[in-house]
Amino acid sequence: MQSFSINSRERTDFIDITAKVQDAVRATGLQDGIVTVFIPHTTAGITINENADPDVVTDMKASLDRLVPWNNGYRHSEGNSAAHLKSTLTGFSVQIPVESGNLILGTWQGIYFCEFDGPRSRKVWVGTS
Ligand code: ZN
Repeated sequence: MQSFSINSRERTDFIDITAKVQDAVRATGLQDGIVTVFIPHTTAGITINENADPDVVTDMKASLDRLVPWNNGYRHSEGNSAAHLKSTLTGFSVQIPVESGNLILGTWQGIYFCEFDGPRSRKVWVGTS
């Protein structure tokens, strides 16, 4: 099991962690198998999506904000229910096949850490099987 830390810079921040996950996979020595990337947080998530046009991430962040407004009559006293809801929408883990030590991702796919209540220091776990 490998892990690394990242620092988000804004309340909502999508960070491309593809290279860090690939480095973690190399550190495990896995050649062929499955990697699981897990986020141990309740106001952040993870997703795989386009890493070519940055407007895709901009549109995803704006659309999630419209779907789940920050203020919406929530009861949770911490005041960050929107972040909890968005993290459930994106999910907390992804699995990616590995061949010859390399992540098998589509040409336009990147792995994004999704911050919904930043800026914060966050952790990412990478496990193989
Ligand atoms: Zn909370």
